[in-house]
This record gives sequence, structure tokens and C-alpha cells, in this order.
Amino acid sequence: MSEPRGVAVLGCTGSVGTQALEVIAAHPDRFRVVALAAGRSAERLGALAARHGVPPDRACLTGDAPEMLAELAALDDVDVVLNAVVGFAGLAATLAALEHGKRLALANKESLIAAGPVVAEVRARSRGEIVPVDSEHSAIWQALRAGRDREVARVVLTASGGPFRGRSAAELAEVTVAEALAHPTWQMGPKITVDSSTLMNKGLEVIEAHELFGVDYGRIEVVVHPQSIVHGMVTFCDGATVAQLSAPDMRLPIGLALGAPDRLPTPYGALDWTGGATLTFEAPDRSTFRALDLAEQAGRAGGDGPATLSAANEVAVEAFLAGRIRWVDIAAVVEEVLAAGIGKVRSVGDVVEADARARTRAEAAVRRRARG
Ligand code: MG
Repeated sequence: MSEPRGVAVLGCTGSVGTQALEVIAAHPDRFRVVALAAGRSAERLGALAARHGVPPDRACLTGDAPEMLAELAALDDVDVVLNAVVGFAGLAATLAALEHGKRLALANKESLIAAGPVVAEVRARSRGEIVPVDSEHSAIWQALRAGRDREVARVVLTASGGPFRGRSAAELAEVTVAEALAHPTWQMGPKITVDSSTLMNKGLEVIEAHELFGVDYGRIEVVVHPQSIVHGMVTFCDGATVAQLSAPDMRLPIGLALGAPDRLPTPYGALDWTGGATLTFEAPDRSTFRALDLAEQAGRAGGDGPATLSAANEVAVEAFLAGRIRWVDIAAVVEEVLAAGIGKVRSVGDVVEADARARTRAEAAVRRRARG
């Protein structure tokens, strides 16, 4: 057996980061942790570094020093960079990992979404590769292996629908933070859980699928599937649909992203069909969950549209979590910022500028709606 792969776990105290460390610890013959990064939690970072035998100079707090992420991603003994940093701050790690020819196990969807054209350029000229960690994209990545690229007719992303599925806009006018955080099928961090409740998460995933797989927007579909068993599907030109099914357990896509093309011997999320199962599918309610259309518009517009969408959404979600605006205001803030204009993206500088501009505009839009 070959040497264990060296893994840099960036965003190690979050939901994906801690599950990745669990997967790595359970497969010491395949993986070892060689670097860790956390945002601000020094105590937890120290404890994780001690537990996984990572020396202090390779365990970094990157909250105020995101450039450290790029340094860790570029280390010689790093084979796989697990980028589970929250938000736009993950871009530096994404670019550095690809630039240095690493496997990028990507859980930070914002970097690919905001800086799509920049990441695509680095990806095309480097030896780096991206294997998605996001459960839907992992599913599609797996399903795509069943045919050739030119045979792909449609890519289908499933959505659980979140905690507010089936409710009307009027019913959602006064929902609380606690209600938005009560996701029916997945245990995740607060930002992505709120994004699931608005369907912005699915909208961001549509853009992510476009960037990852080079499929145009007209061939990417979203379908609501409340059981979260089918994670993604690909329909081929002969009419065959290939799907990936498992219980909602992020350790499966994490393990595949770290180990691919090998599959792990541990059956995370394996289903037991003997008890029977009912799987249902329905079209998303796009008039109540407006974030989905906003994201698709931003994706089709291209340029800094996705960066603007993602940054405005981050500000709006933070404001909602802080009790400053209502849940229904999240999409309204994003829509207002998108309407203010979309520009071109040629460099990281353009993305950083678009991000900052969108945040300033979103903050102004939040203040106008802020309660009390
Ligand atoms: Mg997902």
C-alpha cells in the first residue's frame, strides 16, 4: 500500500472540517493530517492539532490572516487540500491548491462561485484537480462517470426544500432564526442552514455545478426531494438517468473527495432497503423561494454577478442571524444589490472589488430594513 495522503484541513472546527478529521482518523492507512486552519477558535484549534499530531507552526488561526491559507495549501507534503473555510475567505486556498497541482476537495462553494472565471483559468493551466465535497455535486460527479461528457443531457440537483417547504410567502413573513436553523435532514453550520431555508444554497449550487462540470444553465435542473436520499442525478442522451443514493451523511462525499478514485471501506450513509422507502420529487416553489431565480439570473449574467450575489447574501444572512432583518428580507437585499449592476471579472482584484462593493451595498440595504 502506498503512503497515506497528506491532507490540509482548512476550516477544521466547522461541520465539514470536524467530520473530515473523523474520516481521516478512522483511515490512518490512507490519510494523515499535515496542516490545520481555523478561523478564530484558538482553543479548539490547539486541541485538534494535539489530537491529530499536527505541529503548532502548521496549525494556523486565519481569521485575520487569510493569506496563511494559501501558504498551508502550498506545503510540499500536502496532497489534498480540504477547503471547508466558510465564505469568500476560502478563495486564497482554492487558488493556491490548484496553482500547486494539488487535489482540491472543495467544500467552500463561495470561492468557485464568486471567482468562477479566475478559478477556471488556473484550473485549465495547472495540474490541480477539483473533487467536490458538496453532497449534490459529489453525486453528480459520481453519476457523470456512467457516460461521456457529450452524452450528458441534463444534470439534476436535488433540494430537501429546507424547513419552510410548502409554506407561503405570507406565512414566512415572521419566521424566527431558530425556525430557520431547524433543518429537517442535514446538520450543518448556521450560514448554510439559513441558505437552505431560502433555497439560496441550491441557487449557489446551480452556479457551482455550472463551474465544476461546464454544463450550461439550460441543462441544470433543481428538483425538491424532501427525503434527501437521492443527492444528484444525470440524465444522458439515451434517456437513462443515473443517480447516487445514500442516507444524508457528509462523511461519504468527504471520504470520496479525499480518496478518489478509491472508495473508502467504511459504508457511511449506506441504505437499508429492507424496511421500504418512499422517495418523492416536486418542482421548487420559485415565487416564495426567490433566491433560486436570483441565483440563476446572476449565474447567467456571468462576470461578477455570482460574486455580487454571494457577498450580498452573506451580509443579509448575517443580519438575519443577528436579528436585524426578517427572513423575507434576505432575498430582497440580494435582489436590490444585483439590480445595482454587474461588471466583468478578469482577476482576483476584480472579484475582491465586486465583493467589497456588494457588501457595502448590502449593508446599506440591510440598514434601510433593520428593525428597532
Ligand atoms: Mg449541498
